[in-house]
Amino acid sequence: MNTIKAKLVLWFTVCMALIAALCLGLMLLVNERVTRRESYQILSLSVRSNLSEISIDDHTLSISPDFQFYPNDVYMLIYGADGALLSGQAPPDFAVDTPLENGTTRFVDGDGHGFYILDLWIPSGWEDGVWLRGVLQSRNPIQMMSNLFTLFLIAMPFCILCAAGGGYLIARRALAPIERIAETAGDIDKGNDLSRRIGLTSGSDETRRLADAFDHMLERLERSFEAEKQFTSDASHELCTPTSVILAQCDYAEKFAETADEYREAIEVIHRQAGKMSQLISRLLDITRLDLGTQKLHMDDIDLSEMVSVICEEQDTGERRITLESQIEEGIFLHADSFLISRVITNLLENARKYGRDGGYIHVFLTRDQQNALLRVEDNGIGIAQEDMEKIWQRFYQANSSRPDDGSLGLGLSMARQIVELHGGVIFAESRDGEGSTFTVRLPVKS
Ligand code: ADP
Repeated sequence: MNTIKAKLVLWFTVCMALIAALCLGLMLLVNERVTRRESYQILSLSVRSNLSEISIDDHTLSISPDFQFYPNDVYMLIYGADGALLSGQAPPDFAVDTPLENGTTRFVDGDGHGFYILDLWIPSGWEDGVWLRGVLQSRNPIQMMSNLFTLFLIAMPFCILCAAGGGYLIARRALAPIERIAETAGDIDKGNDLSRRIGLTSGSDETRRLADAFDHMLERLERSFEAEKQFTSDASHELCTPTSVILAQCDYAEKFAETADEYREAIEVIHRQAGKMSQLISRLLDITRLDLGTQKLHMDDIDLSEMVSVICEEQDTGERRITLESQIEEGIFLHADSFLISRVITNLLENARKYGRDGGYIHVFLTRDQQNALLRVEDNGIGIAQEDMEKIWQRFYQANSSRPDDGSLGLGLSMARQIVELHGGVIFAESRDGEGSTFTVRLPVKS
């Protein structure tokens, strides 16, 4: 009895039995009422139709030949004025000395039977008269309904069986997806195979929705698991390259370097690679902290207008003759982590320069609407191919792998998106391959 199926079946069966018993009780009650009313009518009609057939004259009782002693199953009894039975035969078990009452139809209990009786006083002169009593044996309602009752007794177990069987089938069908969910979860647990799905194709009820939600969740889990695996493998790979270079340089210096210049050169390479490694490790730490939610946000009221203009000044180095122009609306405030937001802005400006055209431009616009601050960074650089537009947000993805090693890690945009989303904003890119790109950040302003 510890399965939902068994509980449902028991519930159906008990309900069915209760409903059947209730119906039977109701039928008996209604039948008893109807029979009583009918019996009173028959009794009254039978007694009254005999009234004119008897008379008493000078203490002598005369009964006409039309007098019926047993009309419509009603027993006719004639009593004298003193209550003694003069004529007629009482039904078995009826107490003939039951007190006489003029004009009221009533029910009396006999020995094992009930009787409907009606007494009428037929006067003769001032003092004399006779009593005419009609007695109708009440039929046992269960007996009267015996056919119905038999039918009921045969049909009830059948109905209960049907209810139990139907309940079982419905429960089994309804709970099948849950069993499949448990099975799938068990299989995943045993075999670590996140590609397993419940895959219900029929029905549209709650369990189907549950199964679909479970499949959806598995899909997301699988994707994020794959992404984690990819991330670990990419991170190891990225760390491998500088490590190998460092080892190779150490090897070279040990075996072949002779002059101070050669040693310095090797140390410079090692220094550069170690710097790259340290940058990568610190980025990875930041990403992990953001992922785990352990990176504490130091929320403050920040003047975004001022922050953007300071970063623009810093970034306006004139390197590769790229000009930087900005249009910044004053007085835009955010409630945000200033360090993280400044990293987003810096990253966008660094990218605009890195992937910009020599002698090209970077335009920075900061405006606001009712609820949001809008930061737009435009460049006329190399642009991004359509097929890379989604991928640039992935960790370690670099669309232009052919460009010279500039210390890029392919982590900037994915972190920027993480930071912006953490602040309730959105970041998106528009670009034409070979013509330039525009990155837009929308962040809720301080209300
Ligand atoms: P990184 O710049 O370190 O490679 P990012 O995550 O910042 O990593 O950028 C991911 C990729 O998106 C870059 O490798 C580059 O291919 C592309 N990208 C980013 N910004 C621009 C831009 N302004 N113009 C063209 N391509 C860009």
